[in-house]
Amino acid sequence: MATESRLREVRVKLLNYTPRPDYTVAVAMRQSRFKGSVMSLDLKEDEIEHLVHLAIKLGHFSVFEHISFTFAVEGISRSCSHQFVRHRFFAFTQQSQRFIKESDFPYIVPESIKNKKESYKLYTETMEYLKDVYKKLSDEVAIEDARFILPNATETKLVATANGRELMHFFHERISKYAQWEIRKVAEIMLEEVKKVAPATFNEKMKDFYL
Ligand SMILES: Cc1cc2nc3c(=O)[nH]c(=O)nc-3n(C[C@H](O)[C@H](O)[C@H](O)COP(=O)(O)OP(=O)(O)OC[C@H]3O[C@@H](n4cnc5c(N)ncnc54)[C@H](O)[C@@H]3O)c2cc1C
Repeated sequence: MATESRLREVRVKLLNYTPRPDYTVAVAMRQSRFKGSVMSLDLKEDEIEHLVHLAIKLGHFSVFEHISFTFAVEGISRSCSHQFVRHRFFAFTQQSQRFIKESDFPYIVPESIKNKKESYKLYTETMEYLKDVYKKLSDEVAIEDARFILPNATETKLVATANGRELMHFFHERISKYAQWEIRKVAEIMLEEVKKVAPATFNEKMKDFYL
């Protein structure tokens, strides 16, 4: 039945990033302490790691503003995206509820609700009811007004871009034990993705130094 096909899970993909992010940070760091030119600097892996970690330890965080990462994020609730877009140094583009009709609106179910039979039943029945109300309203009025009936649970998709410095801050806040589970899940997957391409910058050993 429709209910199952409307349930969504978090998905994150790193779409694009500054080529050689660790090297870019290391060169910027080197330039700040180097009289000569960095134009044809050839740094070895261990020098790159040393310079990147030195920048983190000294709190020289502006060097991480030279690297940028773009993610596609799907399967999150509007309540999660609302927390996400509070981060002002990200650039966001979010799926529009003004221009896209949520004809079968997919939604997120928290684990706590999934695991309680009665709560789950109430939750999914309410979603079915809201779907019917939304459909009826959107046949009668503009979808930008019909959407007022949509709940926080509604799935959204977005593209998010941030520089390395903002990402460190985001991970520090949103992977914390105080963060809400859904945005924490998003942040954890994002961190796993950037670790693969910038292992010196997003390094376990360094995380305590993040702002
Ligand atoms: C556990 C948790 C609970 C929360 N609860 C609530 C809540 O109940 N209500 C609520 O409204 N929000 C809440 N928030 C959101 C929070 O207040 C921030 O809006 C959000 O986390 C973005 O963080 P930020 O402002 O540090 O980051 P960003 O916007 O990503 O900015 C990064 C950093 O840049 C600097 N900066 C950015 N803009 C300015 C500025 N204008 N002036 C000075 N410095 C600036 C700051 O150092 C900031 O930390 C919560 C966040 C967390 C993690």
